[in-house]
Amino acid sequence: MRIYISADGEGVSTIVSGQELYPGNPEYGYFRERMTADVNAAIRGAFAAGATEVLVNDTHWSERNLLPNQLDPRAQLLRGSGKPLSMMEGVKDSSATLFVGYHGRVGGSRGVANETVMGKQIYDVRVNGLSVGELEINAAIAGHFGVPVILVTGDDQVAMEAAKSLPDAQTAVVKFAIERWSARCLSPAVAEALIQTKSQAAVEELRSGRTFAIYRYGGAKSLQCEVEFISTAQAGAASLMPGTHRIGTRTVMYDASDALIAMRAIFSIMFLGCQATDEIYG
Ligand SMILES: [Zn+2]
Repeated sequence: MRIYISADGEGVSTIVSGQELYPGNPEYGYFRERMTADVNAAIRGAFAAGATEVLVNDTHWSERNLLPNQLDPRAQLLRGSGKPLSMMEGVKDSSATLFVGYHGRVGGSRGVANETVMGKQIYDVRVNGLSVGELEINAAIAGHFGVPVILVTGDDQVAMEAAKSLPDAQTAVVKFAIERWSARCLSPAVAEALIQTKSQAAVEELRSGRTFAIYRYGGAKSLQCEVEFISTAQAGAASLMPGTHRIGTRTVMYDASDALIAMRAIFSIMFLGCQATDEIYG
């Protein structure tokens, strides 16, 4: 039984600041240790419940945050950028996936570091009219391969989003958001124990034969993907991509036939749009 862990940064226990989340800041070293500890807790739980293999994908920023020499040696680690399936590279053929250190979608709540892929340049992302975050985009990729999401760890706000989109998944709430850059935090030791317990419980449920819902954007055949930018300049740059439609001053749309193409379209539109140079006056 292979358990796949997609590990992000913003929902890691005690982390509340960009100074911690990004390289080049003195506090980044602390973040790397905390992220590694949260992931290790999830790995321990999975193996305790009978997993035979754990594959971890480091998905935050440079995708080289987890400390390989401190990671549980029973797990294997995907690290580095340019992975074709991005935050879900390698999920195929897994029995289930755990989302560790996840965060709420941009503007969906006041959750810690709420954002959708590209930080402050994206106003909203919608699929078939419904606002989605990394939680749903990545759950749909897992779903494309028939893999359920069985655990989400992060703040209370991403847990609320998970309760709506992935009602079968367990959640481990390691901090309670006060605002985008502040939270009431569990002690690291308590957070790790909680993640381990929930991971073990979720994998045990899976092993006991419980079926978990597979996320598929509501089952629609055609996925109308919209990226709404902050600036019209970004939408203009993104609409250079063949197959897109500029459906609003700040919004670019692409009709995708499955969840993999949806992710690729959403990411391509974002990356292209965010190349636009824009000057802010006023
Ligand atoms: Zn993220």
